[in-house]
Amino acid sequence: MTTPTDHVSAAQGAKRTVHIVPHTHWDREWYRSFQSFRLRLVDLLDRLIPQMENDPAYARFLLDGQLAVVDDYLAVRPEAEEPLRRLVGSGRISIGPWYTLPDEFLVSGETLVRNLQRGLRVADRFGGAMAVGYLPDMFGHVAQMPQILAGFGFEHAVVWRGVPAAIDRSGFWWQAADGSTVRAEYLPQGYGNGSALPDDAKAFVAALDGFGRQWGDLLIGPLLWMNGTDHQLPQPWLGRVVAEANALQDDLDLRIVSLPEHLATVTTEGLPTWRGELRAGARANVLMGVTSNRVDVRQAAARAERAVERLAEPLSALFLPADRWPTALLDEAWRDLILNSAHDSVCACSIDEVCDAVLHRYAEARDIADGLADRALAHLAARSRHDGSLIVNPTSRPRGGVVRLTLAGADAPPGTQVLRAQPAESVLLEGPPELVVPAAEELEWMRTITGFSLESAGGEVLVSASRQGTGSLVSPDTRVALTALAEVGPVRLRVRRPAQVTVLAHVGEVAGFGWKGWTADGAGTPVEAVSVVEGTAGGGPTLTNGLVTVTVDPADGTFAVDGRAGLGRLVDGGDCGDTYNWCPPARDTLVDEPESADVAVLERGPLRARVRVTVGYRWPARAEGLEERTGEVEHEVVTQLELRVGERALRVETTIDNRSRDHRLRAHFPLPSPAATSRAETAFGTVERGVEAEGGPTEAPLPTYPALRFVQAGGLTVVHDGVAEYELVDIKDGRAHELALTLLRCTGMLSQVPMPTRPLPAGPLIRLEGPQLQKRVTRRYAVAVGDVDPFALADEVLLPLQVVEASEPSEPPDGSGGGDADLPAAGSALAVEGAVVSAVVREGGALTVRVFNPCDEPAEVRIDGRRGWLVDLRGRPVVPFEGAFTLRPWGIATAALSD
Ligand SMILES: [Zn+2]
Repeated sequence: MTTPTDHVSAAQGAKRTVHIVPHTHWDREWYRSFQSFRLRLVDLLDRLIPQMENDPAYARFLLDGQLAVVDDYLAVRPEAEEPLRRLVGSGRISIGPWYTLPDEFLVSGETLVRNLQRGLRVADRFGGAMAVGYLPDMFGHVAQMPQILAGFGFEHAVVWRGVPAAIDRSGFWWQAADGSTVRAEYLPQGYGNGSALPDDAKAFVAALDGFGRQWGDLLIGPLLWMNGTDHQLPQPWLGRVVAEANALQDDLDLRIVSLPEHLATVTTEGLPTWRGELRAGARANVLMGVTSNRVDVRQAAARAERAVERLAEPLSALFLPADRWPTALLDEAWRDLILNSAHDSVCACSIDEVCDAVLHRYAEARDIADGLADRALAHLAARSRHDGSLIVNPTSRPRGGVVRLTLAGADAPPGTQVLRAQPAESVLLEGPPELVVPAAEELEWMRTITGFSLESAGGEVLVSASRQGTGSLVSPDTRVALTALAEVGPVRLRVRRPAQVTVLAHVGEVAGFGWKGWTADGAGTPVEAVSVVEGTAGGGPTLTNGLVTVTVDPADGTFAVDGRAGLGRLVDGGDCGDTYNWCPPARDTLVDEPESADVAVLERGPLRARVRVTVGYRWPARAEGLEERTGEVEHEVVTQLELRVGERALRVETTIDNRSRDHRLRAHFPLPSPAATSRAETAFGTVERGVEAEGGPTEAPLPTYPALRFVQAGGLTVVHDGVAEYELVDIKDGRAHELALTLLRCTGMLSQVPMPTRPLPAGPLIRLEGPQLQKRVTRRYAVAVGDVDPFALADEVLLPLQVVEASEPSEPPDGSGGGDADLPAAGSALAVEGAVVSAVVREGGALTVRVFNPCDEPAEVRIDGRRGWLVDLRGRPVVPFEGAFTLRPWGIATAALSD
């Protein structure tokens, strides 16, 4: 038998220290809107600040490790800045280091870094951030997080979800693949283990004992009592009840401390080590189903991040003068991305109003970024001596590819593929004057129309008009003449405009971060053309480009790449789960065969071939409780397959006008060879995963995993637009024979009642319409078989070569003045080789490049002709370099270039 306090006593006779960290966990938006939660946040800080100023016994408070709550509060209580600054400055309130507490898997690595940078910057106004990688509620943790934290100089992380059963201590060494290690303080019962603080010393001591009794030997060092939970207001009796509890007994020494004060006393001896990502449901739910819940939010996130990180920033940094770096606009775009990266925001486990706000922020960030990218390109075009279309490579790898050009004149240059031809003259409309005359008057507002004539049925010209330069088309005289036509019979409206052709053209290699003027005589395609051969004897069409051969099966709409057949098979199953977790009905109806299939060739090359596959299905309409799916809805799924010259991957675009509820639709891909592991992109690298996952008593071990832009297994690579959920399936003898990619996961509950895959709710039981995705949804991905560099392929598929017209704006639209055409027709602004480029920005005027090495071998990173300093993620100089530097396996490096 044991006495109550034995469990929390470090040794017989010695007092066990209990560290109480008062805090709140602030989900900025979730089952209520931001504004609704903010009102409560204002209540909280309105109480907390005077409480702390007037009650020294209420000694510390942790403001949830994120600065957004400070900005949100001060926006309505600007007068509180000084008192808050005093409390932070004296170490009584801990703020930061994050700006928001992000989900780590559904945003880019760069978004995680910028989040911390923003948090630290805002915290500087108040005297600095807490130097702890506080990760209390994230739905698992990425493998590179220890390196990210170490890059900011942090030695400690604090984690809860995702920690595997193999970790049997409340502290462990957490290591990234590059060897960067932080000490992780593990909260086995979460950040709310001490949320209930009895206003009674005896009850408090008993609660502490209960905690110690429950976790036993797992708890090492001072017992950590996290006094707070979601949106919890401070409990003002804390100081008094702690004093009373200390007076009441002799076994425990209770202290109210900050998290850094606690971590300064923890043990570093004999800790277990964990290397890599934390995604186990052993003792806390990892809520893996958020990856697939609202694919529209995943797509919006990826597109906005790409527009900011991969276009607006590098193009502005490289092609605008340093003093034109658009600091304020980029800051606004990043604020949107970082606010959205908060775990309940990007995870879309929120009410529909919150998802609407998230999508709006992504749209704003993307609009800003698209506009900035256009302006940087226009500036480059104005400086280039080339007259005509300029092709710009926004990525570091030299590459060619297919671009879309609109060219003046009626004739398409040789070697191009015509998409559309606009003749110089054409009949727009024919009919009675009361129909045609008003249309002619409206031409005034169509600025590309340079002239028109109205003819009688016999071809006699009745009225003719033309526009000089930017002048008027329908003059007062013309208007009078038009009115006089009211009495004539049917008329014909013929319009004139400059002839144009829209073509696809293949461009040869464009240097990394470089440009090249396009010329018609250089348009000859140096690569084998794409061709389409119609199937015979009931077979489908075959597309080839000399690199890959694609055959479409007209029986079921699946396709083969280089003989690997059955790719893209759709399988629809039920989902009676919620936004957090998938859960199949007890008796599910799987639909994996179509009712009909139709294949049509849309384009036949020579640069691009397209085939449209229309497949009909009958899917159940909805789930009834947890039992089964009922009803039936007919669906047409339209998939467009596209093969381009010079590309190893088949591009796929699948559109579903979704009218079924409570279901999960996946595309299956038989693997070229069976695989025991997958390799998926994650923040700053890749992660290898097996065919199983670790679950726990409250969450089934579903091996459905997130991939940032690509996943590889068994000789197959799938690149996708937006973080995607995948699973290795058809397992025999530990090896998977297929990869399943989730295209849709539709559910109607924020959190569900107890269900087989997750017995406890994960949030309020709120019925939602948004996650049912009752709308047209398009998923884009690309499939390649065989050896490919997935990073290069992801860039090729997701970041097209840019086209800008060099002759058009002699003055860039930002008014910065184009100056002289001082650049050649082809060139490069920056050459980076040997690593994957994550960011190109200007920091304090200096061009700054962040790279990572996603390999087990050291990399020689060359930035030819440049020198500068390698800096840490705070921008602090580490070591100088000249022309090149060696990057450790899986390392992240930031190079600030001095010239
Ligand atoms: Zn949370």
